[in-house]
Amino acid sequence: MSDHNVFVTESTVAGDDAGPLADRTIAIKDNMSTEGVRTTCGSAMLADYVPPYNATVVDRVLDAGATIVGKANMDEFAMGGTTETSAFGPTENPAAPGHVPGGSSGGSAAAVAAGDADLALGSDTGGSVRNPAAFCGVVGIKPTYGLVSRYGIVAYANSLEQVGPLATTVEDAALLLDVIAGPDDHDATTHDRAADSEYAAAADGDVDGLSIGVITDLIEGADDDVVETFEASLDELESQGAEITEVSLDSLEHAVQAYYVIAMSEASSNLARFDGVRYGPEGDREGNWNDSFAAVREEGFGPEVKRRILLGTYALSAGYHDKYYKKAQDARAWVKQDFDEAFEEVDVLASPTMPVTPPALGESLDDPLQLYLMDANTVPVNLANLPAISVPAGDVDGLPVGLQLIGPKFGEETIIRAASAVEE
Ligand code: GLN
Repeated sequence: MSDHNVFVTESTVAGDDAGPLADRTIAIKDNMSTEGVRTTCGSAMLADYVPPYNATVVDRVLDAGATIVGKANMDEFAMGGTTETSAFGPTENPAAPGHVPGGSSGGSAAAVAAGDADLALGSDTGGSVRNPAAFCGVVGIKPTYGLVSRYGIVAYANSLEQVGPLATTVEDAALLLDVIAGPDDHDATTHDRAADSEYAAAADGDVDGLSIGVITDLIEGADDDVVETFEASLDELESQGAEITEVSLDSLEHAVQAYYVIAMSEASSNLARFDGVRYGPEGDREGNWNDSFAAVREEGFGPEVKRRILLGTYALSAGYHDKYYKKAQDARAWVKQDFDEAFEEVDVLASPTMPVTPPALGESLDDPLQLYLMDANTVPVNLANLPAISVPAGDVDGLPVGLQLIGPKFGEETIIRAASAVEE
């Protein structure tokens, strides 16, 4: 294994002998339950937690023949964009030494970029598959909400998140999506739409006649050299027969604010279970329960997780609910509507995946607001429950830049096709 602090736990679990992923190794983000292998979520709270069952996606990759090589490092409870909030230390970007790998699925992307695993699973609540894919120079897909089961994933913000594949090629990422997609009796939000899709076969590079709309609102806040690299990848698509136009989605100026209110509100509720009774270090069973609850959480959670629980609790509290949570839901509905209208005009939407190149390790930790703004281009996709892919677009002085292609609901095959054309 490489020395970039990619894994929280290195552990080999061999899958079935034959199947579409036979002979492939895979890294699993450490928020996905693995029977008998500890699942920490990047948190001291779960440092010793060993799940008694597999997440559905873990069962599916093992059934398909993959061999799990380890549990990949991540931001604590998937809250962050650099993998620096992990209680197990930061992961280094193998494609850009001295820089962050992105996050929160930073260990998953780094595992693939370093060659520690052929494939990886990440989860994407507001960008956590696409962001590290872009920063590490690999491919990452955030599926349509409901395409992939969330059963056995430690929940951060249920209404926003999906599990997604990471790989060095579009075809491999699509193949992994073929394996994990599809309905699951354990997750009532899954959809049977995936049954007749063939994602790997869609990676045929044919973009002739495809209309691609550049989201101008997501260019404005991006660094100039990132935009230049992004535009070069669009020229490539145009030379292969795609039609490039521009679209503007007015609602997107509210997306980051709406996302953080909703994500933090859901998180504040989800994380209430880490109280030292069933999960977390054992509290004081004899004394006052409130004191025990507070002590366990004071000790077990890092600063970013605490900040989000506090803000989320505030946003949901009586008197402020309408002012923050309800407003955020209104903005979310507007974002969805804007995307629906845009897809009446074009087949695919495009933007740089990240507005910046990967920051140096340690550079961005003390400015949470700056970190939240880094998510401007990825969170709209989660608010609207749409599919998106990040594919390498080139680099700025050796620092990777990703191209994000967004599709309409269940439009995975179209964005996979377009992304494979960029690769060629
Ligand atoms: N950076 C975003 C956040 O911190 C997205 C995280 C994610 O997708 N898990 O919420």
